Amino acid sequence: MRIDILTLFPEMCNTVMNESITGRAIKKGVLQVYCHQIRDYTYDKHNRVDDTVYGGGKGMLLLAEPIADCFEHICADIGEKPYFVYMSPKGKILNQEKIKQLSKHKNIAILCGRYEGVDQRLIDNFVDEEISIGDYVLTGGELPALILADSISRLVPGVLSDDECFMLESHYNGLLECPQYTKPAVWRGHQVPQVLLSGHHENVDKWRYEQALEITKKRRPDMLKDQNDI
Ligand code: SAM
Repeated sequence: MRIDILTLFPEMCNTVMNESITGRAIKKGVLQVYCHQIRDYTYDKHNRVDDTVYGGGKGMLLLAEPIADCFEHICADIGEKPYFVYMSPKGKILNQEKIKQLSKHKNIAILCGRYEGVDQRLIDNFVDEEISIGDYVLTGGELPALILADSISRLVPGVLSDDECFMLESHYNGLLECPQYTKPAVWRGHQVPQVLLSGHHENVDKWRYEQALEITKKRRPDMLKDQNDI
C-alpha cells in the first residue's frame, strides 16, 4: 500500500511513520509512505499557504490551489488517483470497520488541515471522504492523519509478523480483547488464570472468547447491540 500525506509539517509525519512496526514495513517495501510539504506548491515570493476567511471572522484558511497542485502531483506520480481523505472534526468518526474498508485501497492520500481548516471548494471537488478521530478539536490534522495511517498500515498484509495478531484484537470482530498475561506465572502473589497454563488449546480459545464477551458486555454493551451474542 502507498500512503501520501499532504501537510505543512512533513517531518512530524515522517518521524512517526519511520519508527517501529511501520518503519520496518517501509524498509521491507510492503508499505510506502510519502509526506509532502504543501508549501512546496506555492509560487508567490512568500510561499503563502493560507489567507483570511471571506465574510469575516477570526483565523486563516488553507488555500485550495497549493493543495490541489500537490494532490495532482501525487496523482501523476502514481499514475492514478488515490482515495483522498481529509482529516476533519466534521468528518465521520473513525472506527475499526472504516479502517478495514480503507485498508483495501492500494493508494490513499491524507490531507492534514491547519488553522481554521481548508477552503470548502477544495473539499467539494477533490476529497472523497472526511474523517474525524473524535468529537474534539486539535490544532492540526497531522496527529489524526498519523492515527489513520498507522491503523490502516497494520492491516496491510506483511506489516505485522502474523496477521492473526490483529484478528484477535479489540474491535476487529466486534468484541474487546480478553485479558492477557506474560511471565512470571505468579507476580507479587497474583496468579495467571490456570487455563492459560494448561496447554489445552480448545479450552484456552473458549476461555478467551468468554472473557472477550464478558468484558465487552461490561464496558461496551453498545458494541453487542447488533450481535446475537448478548
Ligand atoms: N475550524 C474547524 C472546525 O471547527 O471544524 C477546526 C479546524 S482545526 C483547528 C485545524 C485542523 O485540525 C483541521 O482542518 C483538521 O485537519 C484537524 N483536526 C482537528 N480536530 C480534528 C479531529 N477531531 N479529527 C480530525 N482532524 C482534526
